[in-house]
Amino acid sequence: APPRLDADFYGFQDVLTPREQRAALAVREFMEREVRPLADDYWERAECPVHLFKPFAELGTVGAAWSETAGFETSAVFRGWVGMELARVDSSFCTFIGVSSGLAMSSIGLGGSPEQRAQWLPPMARGDLIGAFGLTEPLSGSDTAKGLRTTATRHGDTWVLNGAKRWIGNATFADVVVIWAKDTADDQVKGFLVRKGAPGFTATKIERKQSLRIVQNADIVLDGVEVAEADRLQGIDSFKDVAKVLRVTRDGVAWQSLGTMIGAYEAAVAYTKEREQFGNPIASYQLVQDKLATALANVTASLAVCVRVSQLQDAGTQRDAHAAMAKSFVTTRMRETVALCREVCGGNGITLDAGVARYFADAEAVYTFEGTRDMNNLIVGREITGHAAFV
Ligand code: FAD
Repeated sequence: APPRLDADFYGFQDVLTPREQRAALAVREFMEREVRPLADDYWERAECPVHLFKPFAELGTVGAAWSETAGFETSAVFRGWVGMELARVDSSFCTFIGVSSGLAMSSIGLGGSPEQRAQWLPPMARGDLIGAFGLTEPLSGSDTAKGLRTTATRHGDTWVLNGAKRWIGNATFADVVVIWAKDTADDQVKGFLVRKGAPGFTATKIERKQSLRIVQNADIVLDGVEVAEADRLQGIDSFKDVAKVLRVTRDGVAWQSLGTMIGAYEAAVAYTKEREQFGNPIASYQLVQDKLATALANVTASLAVCVRVSQLQDAGTQRDAHAAMAKSFVTTRMRETVALCREVCGGNGITLDAGVARYFADAEAVYTFEGTRDMNNLIVGREITGHAAFV
């Protein structure tokens, strides 16, 4: 069996098949070889190693839910595990891949016609095309189910899109952006595949971000963008269908958060064994061990939640509240964990050099996107009480 991560304290790796374990190890090795050496510098310069998308895709795990490129039928647990391996080295790289592999490909996989799936998913899985996902707007974040302002108006076989989107990852270089807009005829949300270079589409990079700096997020303007009816996602009738996409990808963000805390934990363990104060390694002190033990317990509990929520996805019994609870719980544990790991590194913990600061900063964006902790807890609260508290 491939070597187990020390942070996998209870040996959850065993839930993966031997084949999945080997494929996950190939991802781990790619991340160590290709991404770890450049992550801090790219993060500091706020640049994205877009050139690594294709080599990464050659491992076969991009959009593995929707393609044959892995060479075997993958489980949701495996796909989540892969996201964890990415975020363990760099949470931005996980987002960069996940926006295309998860959000964009799941939109087409769940919402596209057979023809649309055949047209888009294989080249996206091979890494020949990169996708983006445009839901959030300048005036609508948590309330996108009701509050979208972007409109789509049909004229014969052509739709005309007008509006604005904010925070859209990969949008400055993506070949295809899934744009969610309200049909002016029936007021329901529909999905549109907007191709790179479409007249009236502009994407401007959001500068000065202090979290996930490698991810290129954009403000998008849609000014009379024409989209053929053939490029409207044929299986999307309302926001309920968008929620199905988000349910799958929220599991993915829980796994990403797990990877983010494992990355910080590993760096903190290494640092505290190395650093000496009062004549001894700080790892030998009780208060430091307490923080490391708390971090490892957070990782272990989160891993259990991630495995189970993905098993529910595999079984086809997962509800919105299941995914929402996983996202909320694991991101909360992540935020506590990266802070503890930062703390035991002392002053050096706030520089990139001790290996924790990048995870610490990146955790904040992951905590907020794909539904804030508040919104995900309100989804769980609605299931507990029968009352929807956010409307
Ligand atoms: P708001 O909705 O303004 O929320 C602000 C605060 O108010 C939060 O604490 C929230 O929990 C709270 N709040 C709001 N409503 C309620 C309520 N009813 N009850 C209690 N509290 C409430 N979006 C995309 O579509 N595509 C992307 O690729 C993408 N990538 C992103 C990448 C990054 C780095 C970031 C930061 C965001 C990204 N997003 C993306 C957007 C992300 O999903 C939103 O930021 C998120 O949904 C929150 O929306 P908001 O930022 O507008 O916050």
